[in-house]
Amino acid sequence: MQSELEQFRAMVRSVVSTEIEPHIDAWEAEGIFPAHELFPKLAAHGLLGLGFGPEDGGEGAPLEYQMVFSEELGRGNAAGVTMAINVQMHMATPSLAQFGTPALKAKYLAPAIRGEHVAAIAVTEPDAGSDVAGITTKAERDGDDWVISGAKTFITNATQADWFCMLVRTSDEGGYRGMSQIIVPADTPGFEVVRKLDKVGNRSSDTAELRLDGARVPVSNTIGEIGRGFQQQMSQFVIERLSACFSIAGSAEWALAKTRDYLKLREVFGEPLERRQYPVFKLTELSADVELLKALNEKMCRMLNNGEDITREATVGKLHAGRTYRNVADAAMQFHGGIGYMEESWTARYYRDARLSSIGGGADEVMLQVLARMDGYTV
Ligand SMILES: Cc1cc2nc3c(=O)[nH]c(=O)nc-3n(C[C@H](O)[C@H](O)[C@H](O)COP(=O)(O)OP(=O)(O)OC[C@H]3O[C@@H](n4cnc5c(N)ncnc54)[C@H](O)[C@@H]3O)c2cc1C
Repeated sequence: MQSELEQFRAMVRSVVSTEIEPHIDAWEAEGIFPAHELFPKLAAHGLLGLGFGPEDGGEGAPLEYQMVFSEELGRGNAAGVTMAINVQMHMATPSLAQFGTPALKAKYLAPAIRGEHVAAIAVTEPDAGSDVAGITTKAERDGDDWVISGAKTFITNATQADWFCMLVRTSDEGGYRGMSQIIVPADTPGFEVVRKLDKVGNRSSDTAELRLDGARVPVSNTIGEIGRGFQQQMSQFVIERLSACFSIAGSAEWALAKTRDYLKLREVFGEPLERRQYPVFKLTELSADVELLKALNEKMCRMLNNGEDITREATVGKLHAGRTYRNVADAAMQFHGGIGYMEESWTARYYRDARLSSIGGGADEVMLQVLARMDGYTV
């Protein structure tokens, strides 16, 4: 008999194969997917609220359910849509769930869980990506309002978002101090989506630049403590890295299985490619990398369920997952030969999409810097 978790996996598989897979080619071509149509469909199955408590309108499901959801999303060559869903569930909302007031959660988190609101996370700026402490977008207090001016870039879901979880400076302290997370609704006067960006991959996900010029939002839109935004964002980043590890595990497994099928079919020098040791060893080695990632994912679930800090594990995981994803994409294209380089093959989109994994959500070098500092180096 199937366990409850396996039944859940089958349900997710069926949702992904009916609601995403038939449309993904068109969405990739259009450079956007209809988040306001898809998200309510996912929410109808409780999928957008898996990790949130029933008091916020969520499912309060064990973390393993989020892992399975992300893995199954990863299996459909729809990395752009997977990223957008991860933003909604694991990047723009965890701080709000953890630190937001009940009123703020009722206004913004509950509709996001129902799929009525599309959420985005706005940290990166034209002059500050890896170095988050370099952000300069500033909120000045005016009575009960913040008045915000500055710019953000590379923001996922931005052209469709109803609101942004934005990291801004709320004092002149500089460095890691004096930042706050503030919810900025998309219809705020003085807020503008400047332009949608044209990306190498993940094309079904919309990414845009934002400008704020005297955008006025209530101080009650501040998530958690004023001045603790950087620290809150760092713990939100840990959940973001965890979700990347989950979806890359499913995605890499899917791509390796498809490549293995191809090795069986494709004959070179009078026999199937599968009879050649090099491609078989390469796929086996990559499968071992995925197995290590999945073991780490399960460990992170156990640790989080025990209330333990997973900063180190999520950092190691993000680094390993990003590299594994890229290596799998490279091998898949290589062993498909010329047809693998054609846009008509699944390998082309997969190759373009995978490249982001070592840049977005903290580049590999940033993961190495975090780990090196944990180990006592001063780089
Ligand atoms: C498709 C896409 C979607 C994104 N979505 C969002 C989003 O929704 N919200 C958001 O806020 N941001 C988002 N980002 C931004 C993303 O997180 C940043 O691009 C990333 O953190 C890198 O910052 P940067 O681009 O400014 O690169 P830089 O900080 O300029 O770094 C450039 C390169 O320098 C190297 N480097 C950086 N730091 C170090 C170091 N300490 N030691 C050695 N080498 C180093 C790395 O190789 C890095 O790639 C997105 C980016 C992309 C491409």
